[in-house]
Amino acid sequence: MFNKNMLKGGFATVAGACFKLFKKSKLNHALTVFLYHDITYTPSEFSKMYKLNVPPDVFDFQLKYINNNFNVITPDELIRGDIPPRAAMVTFDDGMKGFFSDAARIIENNRVPTVIFLNTQPAGGEIFQSGLITYLCEKEEGFKEYLRRAVGYETIIAPLFLNCTREIVNSYISQTGKDFKDTVDRFVGPFASEDDLMMTSESKYIYYGNHLYNHDVALTLSDDELRESYQKNEEKLQSFKNYTNLFAFPFGQPGTTFSEGQIDIIRSLGAQKVFSSYPVINYTPSNAYLHRIALTDFNDTGLKIWYQIFYNEIRNNPVFKSIKRALSK
Ligand SMILES: [Zn+2]
Repeated sequence: MFNKNMLKGGFATVAGACFKLFKKSKLNHALTVFLYHDITYTPSEFSKMYKLNVPPDVFDFQLKYINNNFNVITPDELIRGDIPPRAAMVTFDDGMKGFFSDAARIIENNRVPTVIFLNTQPAGGEIFQSGLITYLCEKEEGFKEYLRRAVGYETIIAPLFLNCTREIVNSYISQTGKDFKDTVDRFVGPFASEDDLMMTSESKYIYYGNHLYNHDVALTLSDDELRESYQKNEEKLQSFKNYTNLFAFPFGQPGTTFSEGQIDIIRSLGAQKVFSSYPVINYTPSNAYLHRIALTDFNDTGLKIWYQIFYNEIRNNPVFKSIKRALSK
């Protein structure tokens, strides 16, 4: 019997095979940047909700596959413009515990250079801002209505959390009189500790980049707030010897979570390269602004990894578009 997941897997396998066969050579002069968040066998509710986790055995397989099919480069090579044929990078965001407890060992064993973009405030014990706003939007009775009223029905944009300025969130919290720290910590799952950051900074393969101080939606910040969040995080990161001068926008969706003007601000503060989480291949690797492709536990075979790499092109391909439409009927 066929079910929906088998169809999705079958479609991805066929599409991945076709694009691997006909389009792989296009990657010879491109830079493919992969994106991960958490690696653990026990993902949090937050990780499951946003498909942020890859189990360690699947991650090990993916990393080996990437290493065998691409030339994975270091941040220094990227900054120098030393880009080999079929170049790739492996990156992580945020700083969840699973990176330090599970992923780091797999990265070391496979000797694959990896950058993790950190928001260092939660490692100091502060609440993880993006966990807080998603918790409030998804789980907190009454918050949605409060938010709608605060923003005004006319101007609300989806998804809801993009409207959550610090001002609105803080005023909501103070009027409830509740403390969300423990609840949100449980929802998000464990974060890196200061010790984790210190120990892993000794790694030969792992580099630390900037992801703002506490994962704010950049578009909800003023220019000064954006600068401050970048600088505070930068000060912390520069105390580690594996620091690298790269930046990734939290949430990473161009236009809805950050603006072009904000890329310029970040560049003017010293970031050598700025990354989005928009899932396309970088056909001009020398660009200062680069995109990243997230892999999930769905990509557990080579062909399903190729499917993800070419996801945006497959999505826009007329033949595969109509196959997908037919399958979904
Ligand atoms: Zn992030």
